[in-house]
Amino acid sequence: EPFPIFVEGQVVKGFGRGGKQLGIPTANLPSSIVDQNLDAVSIGVYYGWATVEGDDTVRPMVMSLGWNPYFKNEKKSAEVHIIHDYPCDFYGKLLKVAILSYVRPERDYQSLDDLVQDIKWDIKVAIESLKRPAYDQVKHVEFFSSSI
Ligand code: ADP
Ligand code: MG
Repeated sequence: EPFPIFVEGQVVKGFGRGGKQLGIPTANLPSSIVDQNLDAVSIGVYYGWATVEGDDTVRPMVMSLGWNPYFKNEKKSAEVHIIHDYPCDFYGKLLKVAILSYVRPERDYQSLDDLVQDIKWDIKVAIESLKRPAYDQVKHVEFFSSSI
């Protein structure tokens, strides 16, 4: 796919299966967006930039696109973990995402702990990779500055 991929949508309730309790909340994009805008994008984990309505900063993110084999999801979902501690939830707010690169395929796990370990690794990869100077300019594109 040609990166960056820009996608936006209002944050919807996910499956409520513990992202937050694990310290890794994931903001879910609407399924209509997943079906329409991310249909041709391969399943897997990605990193990039994201911002959410009410927060004027573009921040690093990791996104999982897929069926989450561990949770046996029936519907393909796009879940974005913004690498920042927010004081409260932002359901219903507009989430804007620039997907910059693929990290790895989706995997199945024997335990929740294995899943969490892998996501923590993805977060490290994202933080390091986003230091590339070329990625910086994507933070400043109009997509992020308009209407938030
Ligand atoms: P759900 O199953 O509803 O997606 P989660 O446990 O994954 O529940 O929590 C996701 C919600 O947490 C998001 O929709 C958002 O409102 C909130 N949230 C708070 N901080 C973050 C963050 N850093 N990244 C993503 N979502 C966050
Ligand atoms: Mg979630």
